[in-house]
Amino acid sequence: MANKLIYFFGKSKTDGGGDMKALLGGKGANLAQMTKIGLPVPSGFTITTEVCVNYYKNGRKAPAELAVEMEKAIKWLEKEAGKKFGDVKNPLLVSVRSGARDSMPGMMDTILNLGLNDATCEGLAAATANPRFAWDSYRRFLQMYGDVVMGVQKKNENDHEPFEEVMDALKKEVGVKDDTEFSAANLQELVKRFKKLIKDWTGKAFPTDPVKQLEGAVFAVFSSWMNDRAILYRQKYRIPDEWGTAVNVQAMVFGNMGDDCATGVAFTRDPANGDNVFYGEYLVNAQGEDVVAGVRTPLTISEMAKDKIIGAAHKELNDVRKTLEKNFGDVQDFEFTIEKKKLYMLQTRNGKRTALAYVKIAHDMVKEKLMTPEHAIKSGDPEALNQLLQPIFDTTAYAAAAKEGRLMAVGLPAGPGAASGAVVFTAGKAEELAAKGQSVVLARIETSPEDLRGMIASDGILTARGGVSSHAALVARQMGKVCVAGAGDVEIDYHKGTLKCKGVTLKEGDFISINGTTGEVFHGKIATADSELKQVLVNKTMKPKDSKVFQYYDFLMKLADKYRTLGMRTNADQPDQVVNAIAFGAEGIGLCRTEHMFFEGDRIIAVRQMILAKAEEDRKKALATLLPYQQKDFEGIFRALNGLPGCIRLLDPPLHEFLPQHDNHKGQEEVAKQLKTTVAEVARLVSELHEFNPMLGFRGCRLGILRPEITEMQARAIFQAAAVVIKEGIKVKPEVMVPLVGFKKELDLQVEIVHRVAAEVMKATGKKFAYTVGTMIEVPRGALTADEIAESAEFFSFGTNDLTQTCLGMSRDDSGSFLPAYQNLEIIKANPFASIDRTGVGQLMKIGVDKGRSTKPDLKIGICGEHGGDPSSVEFCHIIGLDYVSCSPFRVPIARLAAAQAALRHPAKVVAPKVIKDSKAKTGATKSKTSRK
Ligand code: ADP
Ligand code: MG
Ligand code: MG
Repeated sequence: MANKLIYFFGKSKTDGGGDMKALLGGKGANLAQMTKIGLPVPSGFTITTEVCVNYYKNGRKAPAELAVEMEKAIKWLEKEAGKKFGDVKNPLLVSVRSGARDSMPGMMDTILNLGLNDATCEGLAAATANPRFAWDSYRRFLQMYGDVVMGVQKKNENDHEPFEEVMDALKKEVGVKDDTEFSAANLQELVKRFKKLIKDWTGKAFPTDPVKQLEGAVFAVFSSWMNDRAILYRQKYRIPDEWGTAVNVQAMVFGNMGDDCATGVAFTRDPANGDNVFYGEYLVNAQGEDVVAGVRTPLTISEMAKDKIIGAAHKELNDVRKTLEKNFGDVQDFEFTIEKKKLYMLQTRNGKRTALAYVKIAHDMVKEKLMTPEHAIKSGDPEALNQLLQPIFDTTAYAAAAKEGRLMAVGLPAGPGAASGAVVFTAGKAEELAAKGQSVVLARIETSPEDLRGMIASDGILTARGGVSSHAALVARQMGKVCVAGAGDVEIDYHKGTLKCKGVTLKEGDFISINGTTGEVFHGKIATADSELKQVLVNKTMKPKDSKVFQYYDFLMKLADKYRTLGMRTNADQPDQVVNAIAFGAEGIGLCRTEHMFFEGDRIIAVRQMILAKAEEDRKKALATLLPYQQKDFEGIFRALNGLPGCIRLLDPPLHEFLPQHDNHKGQEEVAKQLKTTVAEVARLVSELHEFNPMLGFRGCRLGILRPEITEMQARAIFQAAAVVIKEGIKVKPEVMVPLVGFKKELDLQVEIVHRVAAEVMKATGKKFAYTVGTMIEVPRGALTADEIAESAEFFSFGTNDLTQTCLGMSRDDSGSFLPAYQNLEIIKANPFASIDRTGVGQLMKIGVDKGRSTKPDLKIGICGEHGGDPSSVEFCHIIGLDYVSCSPFRVPIARLAAAQAALRHPAKVVAPKVIKDSKAKTGATKSKTSRK
C-alpha cells in the first residue's frame, strides 16, 4: 500500500481532522479534531479504512507494512503517554475501538484495558496502590477479549453468557450479590477461572504478549466488518461494503479507580425538544459502557456541580460543551471520563434528535452563528417534518391505553398522527356523524373513490387491506389524514356492522383510536391534541407569534427556499386544499384531478348519465348539466390560487370507476331510477364497460379522443371560470394537461379542441387570458418520443405513478402480493411506487427531458406523481433538471427541505466558457498523472 496506514492524534502531533471521516471513520476523525482544538483527549492512533478495504481485497491479509507501522505507532504512543507497553512497572494500556464513517451497530465491541497480563497487572496494582482496580481491569479485559477476539460466546440463544456463568458461580461461593463486592483476591481468582474458561473453550491459551493481543484485536475489528449483523445493517441503509472500518487504538484513562473518578455521556443540548440545556448522565467509579448498560442508576450532569470531590469537572465540562458546539457547528453527543478529577474526552459526534429538536436547534444555532445555514439544511431528515404536523395522542392517555391492554392490531403507518373517534363502516355514516360534530374513524376493507366524502369527514381512516400506496393511504396523505392501512388482523363485516379483532368486537359508533405514525389500533377513546403547526397554518386558530414551534419551522423553511432551485407545487383538487398547500409553501398546482369533483353532491348522476348515454345527444345533455358544476369548482380553485399557476388534468380514469359495480345491486337500482331505465339495462351497460385490464384500457386521453365532447366541456369549464375570476380582478394562469399521451397525434387532437374552445370563450366573454396546453409523460412511448410530442406540448409533467406501472409492467394495486418479497430478495431496493426507480423509470424520465428539450430548450417540465413528495425522488428530479415537483399539500414542507438539500448536494454546474479550439493544446497532460485513491 502506497498511502499512509496510520494517523496519530496526540500532544506532539495530530495528522487527521474532522473532515477526514471517510479515511479515519467518524470516531477517529473527531478524536483528531478534538485533539487539534485543544480538548483533553488521551493520545492514540487510527488505522485507516483503506487498510481494512485492502485487507479484504487481498483475501483477508493485511498489507505487509502494517506490522512495522504499528510497532512505530506504539513506540510513539509510549512516549506520548510516558508509559510502556508490557512494562511491569508502568504499563501502557490501550483501548481498541472500531469506527466506520457513521456509527454502525453490528461492528466489533470495544476492547478496553488491552496490554494486561499477570505481570503488568501486578505492576498496575503497585503503581496505583490499588490492587482491586488492577484485577478488576484485568478480568474485564479477559472477558471482552475472550468474547470478541477469541469467540468465547454462548452457542444458543437461551444459554448463559459463559463468562457470566463463571462469575455467578464465584459470587455464590464467596456469598456476594454484586461484582463491586468482590475483593481483590476474589477478582484474582476470577482472572484465573476466566483464563481456564478461554483455554477449555478454544484450546488456546490467552495471549500474554501485548503486541500479540493488539494484533488479534485489530484483526477482529477488520473481521467484524463482514459479520452478518454488519452486512445486514449496510444492506438496509445502503452503505457500500467498500467503505471499510477504521481501528482506533487509544491510551486508556480510568473512570474506575475510585470516588474521584467517573464516566459519562452527554448532549450539548436537549435532543428531545432542542432546549439549550446541558443534558447528560454520569456514574462515579465506573468504566466504559457502565452508564449505558445501566449497571447502576446514573446521576444527571447538573448534579455533578454539587459533588464534593469531582465538582470542579462540571465547570470544565460546561466549557467543553461550548467549545464543541463552536467547533463542530452542531449539537454534540459525547463521551467523557474523569480520572482522578481530571477530565478526558473520548468521543463526539452530531447528536440524533427529534423533528422538534431539529427545527429548534437549527433556528437557535444559526441565529447564534454556531451553525452554518447550509448545515442546518443538510442535516435534517425531510420525512421527519411530518412529526410536526400531526395531531398527537395525549401522552398520559396513550400510555394508559397501552397499559390497559387495549391494543388490538398493528397495520401499516400510512398517514402519521393520532385519531380517536366513533368507528363507522360507510362514507354516508361518517358524514352523518361528522355533521353532528362527532369524531369518526372510517373503517373499510379497502377504500375507493366512492368513499371520498366519508374520508374527508373522518378524523382517521383504517383499512384491512392495501399498502402504503393504496387509495386510502394516498388520499390520507393528500388530506393530511391519519391513516392505518392494511391491518390484516382486523375483520370488518359490513352486513353486521362490526369490526372484530383479537376477541374484541366493536359495533358502529363504538370508540376506536388509531396511531398512523406507528400503525397501532386501539379500542376505546384516547384523547388527542392538534399540532401547533396545524393550528397556525391550517385551522388558523393560533397566531404565528404565539407558536414557538411555528417560528422555528418557518425559519427553517425560509432558509430552505433560499437554497432550492426546484419549484414547489401541489396536487390539490379543492380550494381548501389549495389554500393549505399555499400556506405550506406551494407556488401553484401541479395536478388538479378533475374527476375527484365528479363525486360531490348530485353530480355523480349526471356523470353516470353521460357515461351510459347511447346517443351523442343524450351525452351532450348530461355534459351540459355538469358544465356549471365544473366551472364553479375551477372558479374556486383559481380564486384560491390568486394568480399562481394551476395545472388541470383532463378526465383520466376508466369510466367504470364512476358506476356502481355488479355486486352493488342497490346502487344499480338507484342509477336505473335516475336514468329512467331498467336495472337489467344498467347491469348490461356496466358489464359492457368492464375491462380485463382497466389500467391499460379505455382511459386517459383515449376518452377525450373518442368522446371529444368531454374534453370540450372540461375546457369550456376551465376557460369560462378563468373569465369570471379575471373579471373579479384576480389573475389566472390555467395550464391544461392531457393525460396518458403516447403518440403526438393523440395530443394534437386534444390540443386542437382546447384551443378552439379557448378562442370561443374569449370571444364570448370578451376576456383575454393566457393559458398553456401540455401533456403528462406517463407511458414509455411518450418518453421515448418526447421530441415529437414536445412539438405540440407547451409543458411536460411526469406522471410517475403510471410511468412506473408501465415501465415495470407492474400494477401498483396488485403489487402487494410480491413486492415485499422482492424487497427481501433485493430484486428491488425500495418500493418503486414510493421512490423513483432511478435506473429504470428514471432513465425514461431522463430521455423524456433530453428529447423534449432537444425540441424546445425552454420546455417547462415537472412531476406530479406521488413521488413528488419523496425526498430521494425530489433529489432525482433536481439532478435531471426538472423545473418543479408537485406533491400533496401536507408534504410540501418535506419537498421544500428535500429540494434545498438536493441543491446543496448537487450545485448547478457552472457552464464553462466556450473554449476556443487549439490544436496544439496538450490534452494528454492530465491523464498521465495517476490519481490517488
Ligand atoms: P461505541 O462505538 O460502542 O460507543 P466506544 O469505542 O466509544 O464504543 O467505547 C465504548 C466505551 O468505552 C465508551 O464508553 C468509551 O468512552 C469507553 N472507552 C473507549 N476508549 C477508552 C479509553 N481509551 N479510555 C477509557 N474509556 C474508553
Ligand atoms: Mg462510544
Ligand atoms: Mg396517470
